[in-house]
Amino acid sequence: MQLISIIVPCYNEEAVFATTMQRLTEAMASVKDSYANEIIFVNDGSTDNTLQLLKEAAAKDSSIKVISFSRNFGHQVAITAGLDHCKGDAAVVIDADLQDPPRVILEFIKKWEEGFDVVYGKRKQRDGESHFKLITAKYFYRIINRLSAVEIPLDTGDFRLMDRKALDQFLNMRETYRFVRGMVAWIGFNQTFVEYDREIRFAGTTKYPLKKMLNLASDAILAFSNVPLKIATWLGFATSLAAFLGILYALYSRFFGDYEPGWTTLMLAVLMIGGIILMVLGIIGSYIGRIYNEVKGRPLYIIQDKVGFEASE
Ligand code: UDP
Ligand code: MG
Repeated sequence: MQLISIIVPCYNEEAVFATTMQRLTEAMASVKDSYANEIIFVNDGSTDNTLQLLKEAAAKDSSIKVISFSRNFGHQVAITAGLDHCKGDAAVVIDADLQDPPRVILEFIKKWEEGFDVVYGKRKQRDGESHFKLITAKYFYRIINRLSAVEIPLDTGDFRLMDRKALDQFLNMRETYRFVRGMVAWIGFNQTFVEYDREIRFAGTTKYPLKKMLNLASDAILAFSNVPLKIATWLGFATSLAAFLGILYALYSRFFGDYEPGWTTLMLAVLMIGGIILMVLGIIGSYIGRIYNEVKGRPLYIIQDKVGFEASE
């Protein structure tokens, strides 16, 4: 019998855990004649009671497994750890907060049976998200697609199913800065989507404050595009053009118009060019910082505790 692995990253999710657990088991029970399943919860350094709850659940049911990090490593890394440790012929990643309805997994499985290697959830409607989040998310996906050669599907999150073939390719990609949905798009194979209505968070609060959202967005852009590096070239051309026009204007006013010797224009030009140079250095610096961190080759995460896995895993 084929095995389906479900990966659930959890960061301070004590308020939703019991219900999530129940909905997931319900959904998987309806395909239990065709598929075995394992549910891997990744505790991403929670500071509440999440780990305790996970361990209790794992003690009761051998198909539930727990990986617990030594600290918070972030959502994208938590997903990676779960995928690293799963055994399934297919793996499904789902958020812990029930915004991604577990019953949609059954539709993913149908597409997988039709032969697709990656099935991702595409959000039709997003209830209960702030205007700000909806608008920034909308433009973010459109911008990243313009900047990057990889076609990253619009309006998707990390809720998806991957066949073992695609998953093994994904696991080969050990980069430190991980934008999972982009990396999966990059892999290729037969990908398709299932539309679903994204629900409101069942309980608890978002674990993606603005700062984390901005970090994810800059990781995505810097990891999937070199266009910002080319900004220096464009700005170079643009300022040279401005300088050239300035020369024409200066000559004109020197010979035909009024002119006043002064330092204002000089000052403005110096400030502008200085500003542009610093900005471009900043962009280059962002890439270099990332190269530096990649070169260190540190492990992506550190596991403190594992429950439900065999001793050799
Ligand atoms: N999450 C995580 N580590 C983090 C932040 C979030 O594992 O540092 C998990 C979180 O528990 C949830 C999923 O990632 O299962 C998505 O987070 P959340 O629902 O808070 O994000 P939002 O839906 O608000 O974008
Ligand atoms: Mg959520």
